[in-house]
Amino acid sequence: MNDHGSSPDSDQPDPDMHDFKVRDLLRAELADRRDDLIALTQALIRIPTLNPPGVHYREICEFLDKRLSASGFETQLIRAIGAHGDTDRYPRWNIVARRDGPRSGDCVHFNSHTDVVEVGRGWTRDPFGGEVADGKIYGRGACDMKGGLAASIVAAEAFLAVVPDWAGAIEISGTVDEESGGYAGVAYLAEKSFFDKVQHVIIPEPLNPDRICLGHRGVWWAEIETFGEIAHGSMPFLGDCAVRHMGAVLHEMEENLFPALHAKTTEMPVVPEGARHSTLNINSLHGGLPEPGEDETGFPSACVPDSARMVIDRRYLIEEDPEEVKAEIRAMLERVKSQRENFTYELREMWGVTPTMTRKEAPVVQSIARAIRQTYGRDPEYVVSPGTYDQKHIARIGKLHNCIAYGPGILDLAHKPDEYIGIDDMLQSAEVMALSLVELLTAGKAPT
Ligand SMILES: [Zn+2]
Repeated sequence: MNDHGSSPDSDQPDPDMHDFKVRDLLRAELADRRDDLIALTQALIRIPTLNPPGVHYREICEFLDKRLSASGFETQLIRAIGAHGDTDRYPRWNIVARRDGPRSGDCVHFNSHTDVVEVGRGWTRDPFGGEVADGKIYGRGACDMKGGLAASIVAAEAFLAVVPDWAGAIEISGTVDEESGGYAGVAYLAEKSFFDKVQHVIIPEPLNPDRICLGHRGVWWAEIETFGEIAHGSMPFLGDCAVRHMGAVLHEMEENLFPALHAKTTEMPVVPEGARHSTLNINSLHGGLPEPGEDETGFPSACVPDSARMVIDRRYLIEEDPEEVKAEIRAMLERVKSQRENFTYELREMWGVTPTMTRKEAPVVQSIARAIRQTYGRDPEYVVSPGTYDQKHIARIGKLHNCIAYGPGILDLAHKPDEYIGIDDMLQSAEVMALSLVELLTAGKAPT
């Protein structure tokens, strides 16, 4: 049970007994804070921080400012001036709160995004009501990820109440635009060196509370355009149809590219398992006349399309080199070109993110794993996300590789109608986070 053992004739208290006491106190403390945790989550849901366009960001920062200041945190509200998405109409406000302990030590940073995606159709509850029913709190962002944010705040507050003599610092940030790339949120903070004084990062995204998410696959977006020559649609032989050229690209994809991508597998424990291969999604495809506007009443005119465009979303594995990923698409297009007369194309890169995966041996992984074992009585599951989240900026710009996503909530509920967070889920996950703080911020008192 115990890594460091204890000799029977030592007059030191048994470390297990000590940890047991801290764990019990934390659990009792969190149970006392159940109503507060519910109220906090509801209050966060009731601020409709929809992205796009990115609204009420300042309001949610001010709310968090009040809450965290009252708990002894020093706060900073930071507008991401000049960052992608920031305008006077839609200012991108972030908050970073920090509390230093009585002694020096490591800094544990909890990062949550405050933005939520559009509501969509199919709701039977008020998406911004924070309704409580059957042990769940409903609302847009309940699980992704205001529940996680609330749980991390209450975890930190419970830790502070139970362990007055601690070493290091706790930071809690609320950042914007994760749902649209995070450039005015975590990326901005990382560029401004906010992670320089941080040793451990926990992102309470909804990954199921006994799972540790180590990272994510890579992404590369690009646009392929094929060209032709416009002519009258009654005499297509006088022109050259760009859509038929694109059809040849699609054919090549079906015949060769998709099987080749599927044959690539990874050691990354990506969930769901289907994402343990390389994948490519055709995000959009367009050729010829634009789609008619709603106010257009006539029939289309007869033209041979001289352009067709396809946007691709390629997700790749840690074993793949980003340059090879691009070269593979170029090679495919060159193959079509060599087989087809008059085939001309352009390939335009849009944006990309390299894959990242924190090592299982990293301290933050180890401490959350131990806390999960204590709270749930079972081993954690290590997973990797098929899509990216803000860890990309912390790893790439912040150069910090001791970062995970861990938090309450069911991954599959994210972005769905009637999204909810389980209250017990939040409490248990808060216990895990608080136990991890005990280990990381009280030198020599590591729970086993
Ligand atoms: Zn999220």
